[in-house]
Amino acid sequence: MTQSRWVFSAHSPENIKRAAAILQKGGTVAFPTETVYGLGANALDPKAVFKIFEIKKRPTFDPLIVHAASMREAFLLCSEVPEIARTLAKKFWPGALTLVLPKKQIIPDLVTSGLSTVAVRVPNHPVALELIHRARRPLAAPSANPFGRTSPTSAEHVWNDLGEAVDMILDGGSTSIGVESTVLQIQGDQGILLRPGGVTLEELRKIIPVSTVTPKELESSEGILSPGLLKSHYAPNTPLYLVKDSFKETLKWLEGKNNEFKRLGKPWPRIGALCFGQAPKSPLISALVNLSPKKDIRKAASELFQAMRKLDKMEVDLIVAFPVPEMGMGAAVMDRLRKASAGKNNLKPFFE
Ligand code: AMP
Ligand code: MG
Repeated sequence: MTQSRWVFSAHSPENIKRAAAILQKGGTVAFPTETVYGLGANALDPKAVFKIFEIKKRPTFDPLIVHAASMREAFLLCSEVPEIARTLAKKFWPGALTLVLPKKQIIPDLVTSGLSTVAVRVPNHPVALELIHRARRPLAAPSANPFGRTSPTSAEHVWNDLGEAVDMILDGGSTSIGVESTVLQIQGDQGILLRPGGVTLEELRKIIPVSTVTPKELESSEGILSPGLLKSHYAPNTPLYLVKDSFKETLKWLEGKNNEFKRLGKPWPRIGALCFGQAPKSPLISALVNLSPKKDIRKAASELFQAMRKLDKMEVDLIVAFPVPEMGMGAAVMDRLRKASAGKNNLKPFFE
């Protein structure tokens, strides 16, 4: 861990107290949650919230999630709470489910990007809960990384990404889930999935009918606009290609290309592979990170962002990511991979 005057152990109650005091004074604190590290500020103070947008270089059209310490406190921020929202909250809070509900006026427009709804959740992490409780304020807290880049799953990631721009970083170890919360808009007695995440669609559908929206529909329907579903997001610095083919098929294709390169005397690029399940080593691949050799999708989710960062550090020329089954947490992993690839799924142009 990089030692600095900004990173403090979250295990010390003194440090949590200090962090809470910073938040009360309108400062920013990065803290662990069960999903990813959040960059928190008092959600009721527009000046404090503005600092989040500045630090992250996040466009103000992208609304923030407000974190509360209990269901009661979360729903106090909403002007209407349908029964189904209470049922979901009772089942999944504290946890990785964000509910989008009509907002009360006390929520600044900056938090919700002018929308009439607010996204709320109760995180399932002792440090996050204690911090919100001590600050006595709900916290707006997006992921603690520059906008559009890979999310942080450790305090070290936050330090590397944001450094001294944050007033304080609380180090509570690595996050357990490793991808962001599921964002669900509640409309009547139905749910609309705005972002897949830590709570799976299958789990939600046991309780509520949930429809999904395509990015196109999202653009055209103002009422449920969720700009966090931008096409490019979570991206490592290295170009990432999310291929459609299996590891074996891709390797075969690469072998063909490699022969061609040899004939032409062209240098072979450094390839980083982001795999899931069986993936034998190959001399054509310079770095291989396996999200879960045993095909455990929850493990893969928890490793995903760390793996992208690892490959970035290895200074490969491109990252080739392989698809994971799109079931359960696999939906969130594929969503992040798709956005990190920004639609790049064909290796051909890179090898031309
Ligand atoms: P982040 O804080 O980066 O985890 O992202 C939060 C995401 O939640 C945003 O990018 C939006 O997609 C979504 N979101 C937050 N507030 C709202 C809202 N009021 N309506 C719809 N989506 C929202
Ligand atoms: Mg984010």
